Amino acid sequence: MQYTALATLAEDAVRQAAGVCGWVQDQIAGRSITKDDKSPVTIADYAAQAIVSLTLAAGAPEIPLVGEEDASDLRDGAHAGHRAEVVQLVRRVFPKATELEVMNAIDRGVHGGGPTGRHWVLDPIDGTKGFLRGGQYAVALGLVDEGEVVVGVLGCPNLDPEGTLFSAIRGGGARTGTIDTPITTPIAVSTEAEASSARFCESVEAAHSAHDWSASIATRLGVTAEPYRIDSQCKYAAVARGDAAIYLRLPTRKGYVEKIWDHAAGYLIVTEAGGRVTDIKGAPLDFSRGRLLELNRGVVATNGRLHDEVLAAVSATHTPAP
Ligand code: AMP
Ligand code: MG
Repeated sequence: MQYTALATLAEDAVRQAAGVCGWVQDQIAGRSITKDDKSPVTIADYAAQAIVSLTLAAGAPEIPLVGEEDASDLRDGAHAGHRAEVVQLVRRVFPKATELEVMNAIDRGVHGGGPTGRHWVLDPIDGTKGFLRGGQYAVALGLVDEGEVVVGVLGCPNLDPEGTLFSAIRGGGARTGTIDTPITTPIAVSTEAEASSARFCESVEAAHSAHDWSASIATRLGVTAEPYRIDSQCKYAAVARGDAAIYLRLPTRKGYVEKIWDHAAGYLIVTEAGGRVTDIKGAPLDFSRGRLLELNRGVVATNGRLHDEVLAAVSATHTPAP
């Protein structure tokens, strides 16, 4: 199947999942289950992964899925109530789905990724903490082919103007539209050439990106605007459409390795909008290493023009993470 057809399939999958997430966000505000790694997960994370997985399996059954979630906790008898809620949510899109089909659809996401063949890369709700706060989050879906991201789709249900979808195909540019309509509008990064006039974005969560370090970088670059703090890959979207010129993701601790689903879609959308994305040392993001960006540390995304200057400021202010 051609990338354009796969991009259309991915957009459809993201739209369906984002619709259910938007519906559920108000109702479950603040309710989550804590995973083994202490991160929160909601019934909407599971439902979104199942909906995307079922949609992709119907359109391109041969392509495996690397998904953030798995159903092992949900299959547990203790979580029967949550399991039933997840199935009800999935039935909003797939009315005939059985409980077993939903659990198996979630568990299709166990693929290990890697350098060969094609695989989808899904974060069903990126920015779960933003989702729980009633803020920004994204349904993020990429397609990796021979270790390269070739399709990226971001559904951002709470992003202005009225919920926004972004889509990119490698070599084909990046486009945007509202979440419910065909996406036709090309986007481009900002043309800002003066770092001091640039706006930068970063995580709301200080545990995900070092705010004190970014403040030092901003001072060094002469940036005076307050950081634009926004959860999820909406940061990549902000750079891709020129709302901000810089996205800094600065490691807060030694040993944290970025997950491919936190970056694949956003990376391609920024790149295709004319921007540049590397790690904090300037190395390209390597999506061929499995489920993690094993060879990278942190992320710097910019409009391209400012990239080298920002990397130099990152390097000059670098203090080893504690
Ligand atoms: P954001 O909304 O940009 O803050 O990022 C949300 C993502 O941060 C989640 O999907 C997690 O996978 C990821 N995350 C969790 N812990 C860390 C950490 N210590 N450093 C960087 N990212 C993290
Ligand atoms: Mg995530």
